[in-house]
Amino acid sequence: MMQPHHHRVTYLVTGCAGFIGSTLVDRLLVNGHPVVGVDCLTPTYEVAVKERNLTGAIEHPGFSMRRDDLAVSDLEPLLDGVDTVFHLAGQPGVQTSWGTGFADHLERNVLATQRLMEACLATGVRRVVLASTSSVYGAVDGATTEDAPPLPLSPYGLSKLSIEYLGALYGARGLDVVPLRFFTVYGPRQRPDMAFHRMVEAALGGPAFPLRGDGSQRRSFTFVDDVVDAVVRIAMEPGASGTVFNVGSSIATPLIDVVDLVGRLVGHPVPVEYHERLPGDPDLTHACVDRLRDAIGWVPTTTLEDGLAEQVAYHRATRSLRGSTIFGSDFPLSDSVMV
Ligand code: NAD
Repeated sequence: MMQPHHHRVTYLVTGCAGFIGSTLVDRLLVNGHPVVGVDCLTPTYEVAVKERNLTGAIEHPGFSMRRDDLAVSDLEPLLDGVDTVFHLAGQPGVQTSWGTGFADHLERNVLATQRLMEACLATGVRRVVLASTSSVYGAVDGATTEDAPPLPLSPYGLSKLSIEYLGALYGARGLDVVPLRFFTVYGPRQRPDMAFHRMVEAALGGPAFPLRGDGSQRRSFTFVDDVVDAVVRIAMEPGASGTVFNVGSSIATPLIDVVDLVGRLVGHPVPVEYHERLPGDPDLTHACVDRLRDAIGWVPTTTLEDGLAEQVAYHRATRSLRGSTIFGSDFPLSDSVMV
């Protein structure tokens, strides 16, 4: 007897060792799907942190990992039998995209994505879900719909907008591509260069948190499990093909409020060091997610307080694993907020 409901398809997650990629891998494995992960473990932050992100997954019989660089390796063998590609590999970070850092953004965002799409087209992958970003938007003064004109404020945003356009080009050639614009994501495993990570570490006794400006900049801070929900569910929605979606919290919160909240959750105030605002750091990002709600009924469900409590618990657990060593402290200050 046929059992169509038990048909198990294979997923490929690129950037599988990263913050969002590894969280997605864990979710797909829990859902019972075989997962192939690919990551070249870029030195953007400590490789040991990326390896730790996969400690659960590598124990799982449904998971296999390839250490390949999407910008260099032959990608067709990776896609053998793959139904859906979740393309989360990339070079994140607004500040690192200025100056000579732009070369990495071109290679790991633009070139890697173009090579992946060529291989997906050649091998007949059913769908590619792309990680884009709220950084494709320009200066906004309220909740932003996907129809707002993209006008990146940083080379990073430009590189990510390019991958959306590559998606449209390969879409015209028959590839099913769904770009998702993530708004600042936080939660367990958040990248060490990101603001919440630094705040929590500061409150737990690490270096002071470098606040850029007065903290009045607001963001749609979005909990990683909510992001992963959206990613998994939109992948299965046939009508989503070729459509870009915002994935973000509906509430824009001032950064300074998060500094206070982290202090309360940790039980010790966040030591703050004041710095100038950085170029490319917008005053506001604010997601309108009506399109995603209409498509799959998704709304973000995790409050900032609950999500941050989970992130604080994660930091406490990983710090106790490594004694007093603070992950990421050897890395240059990059973004305070954006991605
Ligand atoms: P991350 O740096 O933790 O993960 C990205 C992973 O991709 C890394 O492990 C890296 O080694 C890998 N990678 C990079 N280039 C590669 C290549 N050429 N081949 C193979 N692997 C490669 O970042 P993250 O925060 O998890 O972000 C995941 C994706 O989501 C990125 O594309 C990022 O631009 C996007 N995004 C993130 C946020 C956020 O708030 N974290 C917001 C918007 C968009």
